[in-house]
Amino acid sequence: MAYLIEFLFGAVVGSFLNVCIGRIPTEESVVTPPSRCPNCRTPIAFYDNVPLVSYVLLRARCRSCSERISSRYFLVELLMGLMAVALYYRFGFGFEFIVGFTLVAALIVISFIDLDVRIVPDVISLPGIILGLIVSIVGYFLIGNRSSIVPSPLSSLIGILAGGGFLLVTAWIYEKITGVEGMGGGDIKLLAMIGAFLGWPSIPITLFFASLVGSVVGLACMMLTGAGRRLALPFAPFLCSGALLFIFFGEDLIRFYLPPG
Ligand SMILES: [Zn+2]
Repeated sequence: MAYLIEFLFGAVVGSFLNVCIGRIPTEESVVTPPSRCPNCRTPIAFYDNVPLVSYVLLRARCRSCSERISSRYFLVELLMGLMAVALYYRFGFGFEFIVGFTLVAALIVISFIDLDVRIVPDVISLPGIILGLIVSIVGYFLIGNRSSIVPSPLSSLIGILAGGGFLLVTAWIYEKITGVEGMGGGDIKLLAMIGAFLGWPSIPITLFFASLVGSVVGLACMMLTGAGRRLALPFAPFLCSGALLFIFFGEDLIRFYLPPG
């Protein structure tokens, strides 16, 4: 029963995240006006705005103009529902759940905006850096050092510097050598945010995972589409996947590369 409630909670939040994904790039308010069809702008009635269910009942089409509704809406709601369940399973309900859920929500919004319009929005990543640091300080007083997801304030601070600094240097060298801008500034701020929330050990793991999976997917895309090296893949979704990996398995991964004692 608790899992069902978590799932529904996640799906409802996912429904709101869809609004954020659609509106943040155009700097619209995410609160007003209420949800509208992106095509005909007809307001969506409350009975057509039920997460997951409405998408299926309407067969992925707008009720008034019959334009196809992007599967992203269904996907984000499903993803957030499943994430809520997974976080609840891993951490129970408490401070760690709230922190994890907030971070996952931010990562999902960033990933889908990057997929959509190739931007990592500053309005999420910059406050996210500050919030991550605050969370580590609050967590230090609330649950001490017994948490596997909330880092110590020092680890959070080093995470910001390591995440931001490492990519900044890499991007600078890459640009010097190739003359092409490689990694966007948005990715750098995103990694700093991940470091702020998850502490510095999350940085090498996130980067390693993102580069590995990013290269494999990039190569696959090049072979499938025949596009050359110019193919620019959004990198944020890979960084976010790496961070997700760390949220759930970070403790085990750290033990693997930082043996105790
Ligand atoms: Zn419509």
